[in-house]
Amino acid sequence: MTIAERIKQLREQLHRYNYAYYIEDKHLISDFEFDQLLKELQALEAQHPEFYDPNSPSMRVGGSITKNFQTVTHAERMYSLDNTYSPEELGDWLKRIEKINGAPITSFTCELKYDGASINMTYVNGELQKAVTRGDGSQGDDVTANVKTIKNVPLKLSGDFPPVFDIRGEIILPLAGFEALNEKRLAASEEPYRNPRNTASGSLKLQDSSETARRPLECFFYALSGDLNYTTHWESLTKARSWGFTVPKSMEQLSTLEQILDYINRWDKKRASLPFEIDGVVIKVNSIEEQEALGFTAKSPRWAISYKYKAEQLSTRLNSVSYQVGRTGAITPVANLAPVELSGTIVKRASLHNADQIEKLNLRIGDYVYVEKGGEIIPKIMGFDPARRGNLSDVIHYITHCPDCKAPLQRIEGEAQHFCPNEALCPTQIIGKMQHFVGRKAMDIDGIGAETIALLYHQGLVKNIADLYRLKREQLLPLERMAEKSVDNLLAGVEASKERPFHKVLFGLGIRHVGETVAKRLAQHFGSMRNLMQASADALLAVDDIGEKIVESLQAYFISPANIQMIEDMAAFGLSFESEQVMQSSTIFEGKTIVVSGVFEHKSRNELKKMIEDNGGKVGSSISSKTTFVLAGDSMGPSKKEKANQLGIPLISEKAFYELL
Ligand code: AMP
Ligand code: ZN
Repeated sequence: MTIAERIKQLREQLHRYNYAYYIEDKHLISDFEFDQLLKELQALEAQHPEFYDPNSPSMRVGGSITKNFQTVTHAERMYSLDNTYSPEELGDWLKRIEKINGAPITSFTCELKYDGASINMTYVNGELQKAVTRGDGSQGDDVTANVKTIKNVPLKLSGDFPPVFDIRGEIILPLAGFEALNEKRLAASEEPYRNPRNTASGSLKLQDSSETARRPLECFFYALSGDLNYTTHWESLTKARSWGFTVPKSMEQLSTLEQILDYINRWDKKRASLPFEIDGVVIKVNSIEEQEALGFTAKSPRWAISYKYKAEQLSTRLNSVSYQVGRTGAITPVANLAPVELSGTIVKRASLHNADQIEKLNLRIGDYVYVEKGGEIIPKIMGFDPARRGNLSDVIHYITHCPDCKAPLQRIEGEAQHFCPNEALCPTQIIGKMQHFVGRKAMDIDGIGAETIALLYHQGLVKNIADLYRLKREQLLPLERMAEKSVDNLLAGVEASKERPFHKVLFGLGIRHVGETVAKRLAQHFGSMRNLMQASADALLAVDDIGEKIVESLQAYFISPANIQMIEDMAAFGLSFESEQVMQSSTIFEGKTIVVSGVFEHKSRNELKKMIEDNGGKVGSSISSKTTFVLAGDSMGPSKKEKANQLGIPLISEKAFYELL
């Protein structure tokens, strides 16, 4: 036998054993023998690169490195699925689609909703050519090299497959593999992975495919796509299975809502013992013809729907409640729980949000509470088990005073949170505010971290953010962990922060309810701190997205002499309290009257009006002979257009308007 023949033989054997194992559930040889054959093949291939085959079974071990994953456009969009949560909602869906269909629908498939990362694979002449992640639905990343390492993804097909087609599936990491991976990480003092789903999608984006090969990923296939001649979804997946794809046996073909609900119930009971995670069931109209008639909405197919199971719940003991003070003084109660494992992570705490929530849940210390983890990181407490409430359980007395500065707490009408009003003196708030100020999203001051701020505060060097600008070398050098270099860094960082734009400074002040977006809006609209401080409630409310809560908070902030003093100090140190936009304002629209009409892409109507005024123009309310031009957005009314035409008044697009400026 020549070497070429031996290589061919080995490849065929290995493909066959793989097929037998994954599709026919037959163990024809031992793992050891399989590995021996694979090693022989690898050795021969290494010696004879002229026989390279991109779909050789040796691809499973990986080895290639991808630096940048290529972006690929999907031939057919990868849609989401609409969700239902109850039998009623499912029934409504069925009625809705039968109405569109114009006739009863009597055949469905039910599949599990595997919780992993979706993938689209292209096969040409029975060989895997490309595997692309879902991405944003229309474009994803080419992760072919990594996908080839997944053991149950067929690299070569057998049987009567079409010459070209796409197939979709979900790449999952079974729970056992996930736990083993985390044990290794913990042993190496690395942060454990959060859940199998994220770990699966992260595994697809590893640069070194041999690293992906070491993760026990699997792929479950759930849809063929392309121009194929199958009459039902069931038929197409049964075919796909025969070519070598893992189409889970849990898929069933059913004909009534009752049967579907029974399927859902059966799997709800069984899902806890599955070796991988599912988050529901997917119900699909079986007939391809009916699928085509039903079509798609912008986001999802009408012919399919998911039924989501309720998140996993566990009960555990509520040991105590502690209270955290935020930088704005808001108090958050936190439940300290007896540790339990929930959906793959150890849970020790849960947020209780506020006093009302505790009251609503009617909790006592010592209760066994139900915790639930949805998609979010912090678990929720859903209730308690009355049967396990002992006589000794303690009522939770919500604190009346700040756990830090001991000031009596307040509660603003209509707000859920208690807060510590001692803004000027409460250490946690002061430190928290300064930490917020230097943070990446605000002033982004290099050289000062959260710990440094706490240190500076406890050393009595800073009491508010303005004090940061007073810091001197000689004060810092004697401090612990402050080498010359760190001091230089810190001072340089503080100096550089004077260049940050007004909206960052405004956000950095940490005024309640003034987040990044609101700070930007306010800075843009009012242009300067002076204007903002003088603005009336009405003027503030007239700004997009600014409501009562923000107005009250701003007014409370600006009424404090300490805050005013701090802002004045900061201004004296050279921080910017004016938007560049105003400084750039011109007089190009002087003497001009401009009407703004329609909907705009980049700015709101009010922002555009403001820009006109800032640049010397007048905003007209309706089109007349006095109008200089109309700033016309999308869907401007036809009657207005006609009027402008009649009067010979030009229409200017949003883009042209910016160009004018
Ligand atoms: P969602 O992301 O919640 O909108 O659900 C859509 C996703 O569910 C798809 O992108 C698939 O990746 C995934 N999925 C898991 N199992 C199935 C299945 N049996 N049929 C269709 N989609 C599935
Ligand atoms: Zn306090």
